[in-house]
Amino acid sequence: MTEIKTSHTLFNNNDIIMEQGSIGDCAYIIETGEVEIFIGHPDGSEQKIATRGKGTIIGEMALIDQKRRTASVRALMECKLIKITKDEFQQRLSGSDPIVEMITKVILNRYRDTISRIEVFGEGTIYPPAEETEKQLTQSGKAVEHLKTASEFKHAIKNNELVLYYQPILDLRTKEIKGFEALMRWNHPEKGFMPPNLFIPIAEDSGLILKATDWAIEEACLALKRIQGQSAGLSQDCFMSVNFTAIDMLQPDFLSKLLAVSEKTGIAPSSIKIEMTERLLMNNPEKVKNMLIDCRENGFQIAIDDFGTGYSSLSYLHHYPINSLKIDRSFVVQMNKDPSAYNLVKGIINLAKSLNMSLIAEGIEEDHEEDLLLKCDCEMAQGYKYSRPLPESQLIEFIKSHSN
Ligand code: C2E
Ligand code: CA
Ligand code: CA
Repeated sequence: MTEIKTSHTLFNNNDIIMEQGSIGDCAYIIETGEVEIFIGHPDGSEQKIATRGKGTIIGEMALIDQKRRTASVRALMECKLIKITKDEFQQRLSGSDPIVEMITKVILNRYRDTISRIEVFGEGTIYPPAEETEKQLTQSGKAVEHLKTASEFKHAIKNNELVLYYQPILDLRTKEIKGFEALMRWNHPEKGFMPPNLFIPIAEDSGLILKATDWAIEEACLALKRIQGQSAGLSQDCFMSVNFTAIDMLQPDFLSKLLAVSEKTGIAPSSIKIEMTERLLMNNPEKVKNMLIDCRENGFQIAIDDFGTGYSSLSYLHHYPINSLKIDRSFVVQMNKDPSAYNLVKGIINLAKSLNMSLIAEGIEEDHEEDLLLKCDCEMAQGYKYSRPLPESQLIEFIKSHSN
């Protein structure tokens, strides 16, 4: 989160702190002193509107738009003010939830509209055109799109628009298929196939991810059963990796749901790999640890996804019952260009081995990436070099041709 940088400004008695009609670029919090807010009329007279003292804020509307100040502010004594610039505020606002951003802007726009009309232009004047500004605010941000996607995603689950693709995970040395990762796609009625990065974060925000995950875990297990049934050459202890978010894993019934799926589908817990990110471990260390211990005791496998992108500290790893580390593609890409990235990957692999964890490198596209990973003794890999994520029928074809 961006830090709002503040600075202090001193004003003497009678100083004009802000001037009606000028374009505002900051707000102030009054740390000490008192000010008066007034409007200057065309005939030169002044109309006092209010006074403000310690702890209050002045000029706040400038934080939200490019419009002119609707009133002037004069110091009534020596004043010490804390300045918040528009740029800093906008930076923080754009880093927040898009709906919070939109609503904040709309409320401030309406507030500006109301006071401009009543105090400056008189009741009944249709200035400024708040509706137009508001339309711009709602249409320029991500919020409306976000809300629309969330409501459509609700139907996606009901209407069977979600699909799983499967990417094979291979033994790097022998090229034997060791497992698959289930990756969600949304077959949107108008937009076509949507990649998960466009809808998973929205599904997470709205809580809809829970239903989608319930569907995905069961569907992935059923698919593994079908794939095994149709692929004679495939090892029977192939695993199916499924991605879980923090919201999924912090549900009190997470384990009982997994057990129910395992029972219902006939896929043993040892064939189900739970993929979770490092961040989840670090944000909820004790809660997650206990839950992971329970999952492992029940036979499920656990993999840390995107390993290396979240936290540099590796010291926590041995506290958790983890089976596999998945090295993020960003390291795989860097390895060839940067010896320190290569050494880092090698270090991660050695560490994992000493902790009895297996290694999966993600996103292998090039021969030289595979060569370097082999040199580091990495165990498993997935990437476009071997296969893109495929729909079930194509995956079965891939397995057939791969084992010939
Ligand atoms: P992830 O878990 O890190 O999944 C691997 C991503 O890397 C997938 O993107 C996959 O298509 C892509 N990939 C695999 N090999 C290569 C390669 O050689 N080169 C490149 N450039 N990319 C490769 P995808 O399918 O778009 O998924 C993106 C992310 O969305 C996933 O990242 C995961 O975090 C999330 N996701 C996908 N499916 C699910 C799901 O069912 N549930 C949840 N919670 N998240 C999911
Ligand atoms: Ca993953
Ligand atoms: Ca990953």
